[in-house]
Amino acid sequence: EDQRLRLPPWLKREIPTGKNFSKIKEQLRKLNLHTVCEEARCPNIGECWGGGEHGTQTATIMLLGDTCTRGCRFCSVKTSRAPSPPDVNEPVNTAKAIASWGLDYIVLTSVDRDDLPDGGSNHFAETVREIKNRNKNILVECLVPDFRGDLDQVRTIVESGLDVYAHNIETVEKLTPFVRDRRAKYRQSLFTLENAKKMNPDLITKSSIMLGLGETDEEVETTMRDLKAVGVDCVTLGQYMQPTKRHLKVVEYVTPAKYKHWETFGQELGFLYVASGPLVRSSYKAGEFFIASILK
Ligand code: SF4
Ligand code: SF4
Repeated sequence: EDQRLRLPPWLKREIPTGKNFSKIKEQLRKLNLHTVCEEARCPNIGECWGGGEHGTQTATIMLLGDTCTRGCRFCSVKTSRAPSPPDVNEPVNTAKAIASWGLDYIVLTSVDRDDLPDGGSNHFAETVREIKNRNKNILVECLVPDFRGDLDQVRTIVESGLDVYAHNIETVEKLTPFVRDRRAKYRQSLFTLENAKKMNPDLITKSSIMLGLGETDEEVETTMRDLKAVGVDCVTLGQYMQPTKRHLKVVEYVTPAKYKHWETFGQELGFLYVASGPLVRSSYKAGEFFIASILK
């Protein structure tokens, strides 16, 4: 018997096609750039790539390969103890492609590379520098691992010249051991975010929470307060979706009204911005939210 919950109507959305969108896709083929947006068939691609009210386009690029040293129970990325070594040309090639694409806000993310002595932090930092050297106006967000709490690695990222330091707490404290890889720790994630902010108070920090894993409202409140307490500026909340049958089941499809509630709650706590909605991913319209928040 399939006990999975039925998909509610608010989660059904077509992958957009549109003229502008096809043009970008064509450009990307020429640049040989692979985005998470396309590869994960993200339903937000039209909104992110199209740019919103401020015309700020956002896309997400995955660095350091497609194989992770960790195995979180919500994530469908391949796992291995020894993934292939990083492509040394990736920082330059990625930066060239991004600069010629001409988009406004780029999210660089990666699998966790616990196998590398520096956790991949220098590879990230080099990519940021290569991008900024070509076009300093491109806003760069790095969505990074916890680096096992190693502050030298956090510092490498903080000092790279990026605009936004993001690390996802993913879920409430109680569920962390069941949801994330055992090497990931709720307090360790807070610790890296707190220190990134202390190293450079001008840096915008950001984190993301998935809902629908069985967390209580009180626990969500606590998590948001914990993020605020360590100086996190921006928070995003979105629905957990089960990638395959072998992954954690969805316990609840949280309603749009509830997401609205969390948005208001987050604004009251004083976050710079809160992106909250069923289809929100941590990079959802990140450029639009960033620009809107600094124009506020
Ligand atoms: Fe790409 Fe993230 Fe936007 Fe999805 S939410 S389209 S992955 S930038
Ligand atoms: Fe997926 Fe990231 Fe967990 Fe690796 S660390 S399994 S990429 S969520």
